[in-house]
Amino acid sequence: MNVLSVDNLTVRFGEAHPVNAVSFEVRPRETLAIVGESGSGKSLTALAMMGLLPRNAKVSGAIRIATKEGPADMIGLPERQRRALRGKQVSMVFQEPMTSLNPVHTIGHQIGEALAAHEKLSPPARRARVIELMNLVRIPDATRRVDDYPHQLSGGMRQRVMIAIAVACRPRILIADEATTALDVTIQAQILQLLDRLRVELDMAIVLITHDLGVVAQWADRVVVMYAGHHVEEGAPGALFSKPLHPYTRGLLAASPRLHGALTYRDIPLAEIPGSITSAKGEPGCPFRPRCPRAAAICLGSMPPSVSHPGDRRTACHLPLSPSEDPADVPAFA
Ligand code: SF4
Repeated sequence: MNVLSVDNLTVRFGEAHPVNAVSFEVRPRETLAIVGESGSGKSLTALAMMGLLPRNAKVSGAIRIATKEGPADMIGLPERQRRALRGKQVSMVFQEPMTSLNPVHTIGHQIGEALAAHEKLSPPARRARVIELMNLVRIPDATRRVDDYPHQLSGGMRQRVMIAIAVACRPRILIADEATTALDVTIQAQILQLLDRLRVELDMAIVLITHDLGVVAQWADRVVVMYAGHHVEEGAPGALFSKPLHPYTRGLLAASPRLHGALTYRDIPLAEIPGSITSAKGEPGCPFRPRCPRAAAICLGSMPPSVSHPGDRRTACHLPLSPSEDPADVPAFA
């Protein structure tokens, strides 16, 4: 049974439609990556999964989280019940730990606050549990550092504190929104290793929101590609990277320096996707049409439906690339 199912999620702010009928599921103990350019709707989708969208957002669809009592719909629930799910069932690590941590409280206090929201513990028991969590995320000398303030820690250690806060109540799903983007590449690898170890030890699923396809290739079990608020492709990284079905996925791969040379694309010059992502306003037709080298008349009339393909794959394109097509033969972007 899936630990979380997003079904037809749509988010609107007035005329803007930043998330459009997005559906996918998160399976137990997997790492699901959601990738796309800035403006693709991936972070808003993550906020919707946490029930943290701003009040002026008009939201429809369902986000069902599996609980012991049965599925709970994050969208339909009153705020009090959503708060009970946050931290306990689904939790999140944000990109910039320095702005997420409170500079005037010790890290021990802040990890303890996350515990206090869901567990009744005496002050000494809570402090012991905080130190246990700091050890779990490999913060050295936890007994002494529990009384440190955020500014006394390096960026990598601060991100470990954020992870300790996020896993304090052993959630079943941990969302990491660009959680390693602001870190040095060596620290980034350590944090990704830590997340993967916690996934196994705490029996969690991880949703990795990223634009780094190198991270996806190494750490994800499955990938959802988003464009202009639409789910455009889904599959395992190996199949999706070697034989993309959607022209946008192909464009992302061709423009990625970290994958360039590592996979099927080694003989294709690094290419940019022309133009830029435009915010969706609910117009008919494929949102990628102005940038797509395969666009045809059919792409103007209607949004392509999401269609299943062999190998647990899905794509939303009227003219998908064929898995038997050599990417080198497909028209380039630049
Ligand atoms: Fe390109 Fe048409 Fe497919 Fe959209 S539907 S990605 S415009 S081929």
